[in-house]
Amino acid sequence: MSHLAIRCSNAVNGVSKLHGEVSQKMFNYLYPEFNYSELFISYVTNSVHFDTWVAWEWHDLFQKTFGKGFFEDQSNNKFWKKIHTVPDAEIMHIRRKLKKRLLDWVRINLQDDLARRGENPRTIFEIVKAIREDALVIGFARRFATYKRATLLFSNEERLAEIVNNTDKPVIFLFAGKAHPADKGGQEFIRFIYNTTTNPNFKGRVIFLENYSMEMAKLLVQGVDVWLNNPTRPKEASGTSGMKAVMNGVMNFSVLDGWWVEGYRPGAGWALSDKETYPNADLQNELDAETIYNILENDIVPSYYDQDEHGVSKSWVSHIKNTIAETAPQFVMKRMLDDYQERFYGKLWKRSLALKNNDFKPLRDLLQWKKRVRNVWEVIEVVELNAPDTFNHSLPLGDHFKASITLNLIELRAEDIGVELVFFRRKSETELEIAAMYPMQLSQSHGTNAQYTCDIQPQTSGVFEYGFRMFPQHPLLPNRQDFNLLRWL
Ligand SMILES: *Cc1c(COP(=O)(O)O)cnc(C)c1O
Repeated sequence: MSHLAIRCSNAVNGVSKLHGEVSQKMFNYLYPEFNYSELFISYVTNSVHFDTWVAWEWHDLFQKTFGKGFFEDQSNNKFWKKIHTVPDAEIMHIRRKLKKRLLDWVRINLQDDLARRGENPRTIFEIVKAIREDALVIGFARRFATYKRATLLFSNEERLAEIVNNTDKPVIFLFAGKAHPADKGGQEFIRFIYNTTTNPNFKGRVIFLENYSMEMAKLLVQGVDVWLNNPTRPKEASGTSGMKAVMNGVMNFSVLDGWWVEGYRPGAGWALSDKETYPNADLQNELDAETIYNILENDIVPSYYDQDEHGVSKSWVSHIKNTIAETAPQFVMKRMLDDYQERFYGKLWKRSLALKNNDFKPLRDLLQWKKRVRNVWEVIEVVELNAPDTFNHSLPLGDHFKASITLNLIELRAEDIGVELVFFRRKSETELEIAAMYPMQLSQSHGTNAQYTCDIQPQTSGVFEYGFRMFPQHPLLPNRQDFNLLRWL
């Protein structure tokens, strides 16, 4: 289906910057003559609807603090920066209120769920009693697709038990989510976490909430202190629940994958490296889990509990304020709609007007032109090619690189064809990166022959691989792959 959709579309986008790049690599083989980075697949990073996901308490504070014009211009970070003028105590007051609302709801629902499942009354009482309001609360709720690794946290149960049961600094993990009916692996993850919730080490510290829904998601992303996401890289196309958390002053603790690559700022939440260290999944899981424990122990838990006599932690509030000031404005719907308009729909609209003009004449001409080019493409001949022999030689900085190519274009006009010079840097055995690209100029033409030349001074020195290539050009082509002809000369 993706192939059909890509081949039939004028524009294609991933849903985060990284996802755009991953998609270019995934679908490079549909356009093998091109380097992946040249593919017309681009990106617009997802976002969330502010009014749906923000708690009223924040909504009112933002309205009061950010002033006139904010709601109409939500992606403008000049408004959000004003969060730094709000007293720390006021921030913590809202955070606490929202956490209390969540935990009250959790207690009631948990009691019902556990009773319905026939759990014994004493266990229920112990679990509910252990839900302390002053605990650091971390949320993990989403689809239980296995790549999201919901059970990663339990890789080392001993270590986790130590973290959550520290009497002075308790930590509670709230889990929720559903698995696809056909996803046995995901269902197994839910079973595992559910069983863990009655393990004496984790009673009242690891909680699974049944029947995940938008309403529950809202309570969670508004009420927890930290939102955890630890997918297998680079499988999280975007992820959006973390954005909902951000609007509510909830920090993300997440793998640098999907949207978080763009959202993370030091001092505004926490990140696990985007680098995959091990090709072996088990080793990678172990490394990620140990990194999570370390960051929790050394950074997140101490920062949260570093509270003054009014229960305010300066470093914690600073994370909250930075999250709201730096990250939130990028992930509201206005920014996303603006991006779609600028990068895609505006251009598509203009092109469609241009094609429909004059009773579709431009469109008919374009199709005729494509036919003509396709008919002769294979027989276009290289009459002459002059280029310096730099094979495996270093290209000296600032030296002139002159080349000329003469083509026999048969019946095409010289302007139907573009010729260019491309320099590549070799990244690995299989991967080339485009280092620079220079269009060649049409210098003369006689008969059906056209000569293209270039005289450039490379701005970087080193060993490069390079090549010349020709491609069809027409002002109404939306992108290079739309008329997928490319010939290396
Ligand atoms: C936002 C949301 C999601 C998406 O969560 P991710 O963590 O981005 O996968 C899934 N389900 C519900 C109910 C949501 O509100």
